[in-house]
Amino acid sequence: MLDLPLAAVAHDRAAHRRTKPGLLDELLARPATRLLLVSSGRVATDGRMPVLLSAEEAVAAGPAGTPPSAAEHFFLGESDDVPYVARLLPGTADTGGTGLPDGLTWTTPRELTDSGDALTTGLAVEAVALANWHDRAARCPRCGRPTEVAAAGWVRRCVHEGVEHYPRTDPAVIMSIVDDDDRLLLGRGPSWPPGSMSVLAGFVEPGESAEHAVAREAMEEAGLAVRQIEYRASQPWPMPASLMLGFRARAETTELRPDGDEVSELRWFTRAELAAAHVDGSLRLSGRASIARALIEEWYGGRIGG
Ligand SMILES: [Zn+2]
Repeated sequence: MLDLPLAAVAHDRAAHRRTKPGLLDELLARPATRLLLVSSGRVATDGRMPVLLSAEEAVAAGPAGTPPSAAEHFFLGESDDVPYVARLLPGTADTGGTGLPDGLTWTTPRELTDSGDALTTGLAVEAVALANWHDRAARCPRCGRPTEVAAAGWVRRCVHEGVEHYPRTDPAVIMSIVDDDDRLLLGRGPSWPPGSMSVLAGFVEPGESAEHAVAREAMEEAGLAVRQIEYRASQPWPMPASLMLGFRARAETTELRPDGDEVSELRWFTRAELAAAHVDGSLRLSGRASIARALIEEWYGGRIGG
């Protein structure tokens, strides 16, 4: 069982309610409703966990001089009779995060700590994923004219053609590849800091299966033929719009050929080598929230470091 904090969903998305006329106005008038603030791929947190606000507090949190109508609201779902709504603020994260109440800060899902609070983590991942789609869907991909929000944030409709567009999720594969000596393959992208390494990953291309994408990426990025491709688990990774499909696979050979484009360095690690490199700081692994880390630790057989 992989430990995937960002994959937790503890609330009911209540999708059947999204098309109810006036739903958001009704929810924003209810004292019980709680809101998450999202902006530019980030969610408002106390530095550790996403923070839930009343409608009054959420409106006050907007940039000074911006009327509430400038923000868009999306219905996230409900839990124990509490409705949850995301309030999208204009790109404040890029301009220093102005407008947030004291003590709050903008945090990406990648930076969310493993707080163990499945409810707020799940709401935050949903809110950021949805907000990222809205950021990129202001115009109709068919005719280029503006779209307007419908279904409480879950549809954008072309004002010209009336055609409906739905939130996008792009599948990607990520895989722990081991050799016949049970060594793990890690690679480093050309733009990554020295010492940062992770398992290989890549987007699923149109017309191929996830398993085929695993084999293709292993060959393209490392020059490896792989077999025994086994699905492990999936995790949303809304940076900006991925669904990571986690696999493990076995390499048929051990000679490594980094493609130099997406991967500049490749190395096989034994468990002892990986533990030593992590302790002496020469190897920096993906963060605790990532499925990459979970796949690495599944191979390792336990948590690496604290
Ligand atoms: Zn259109």
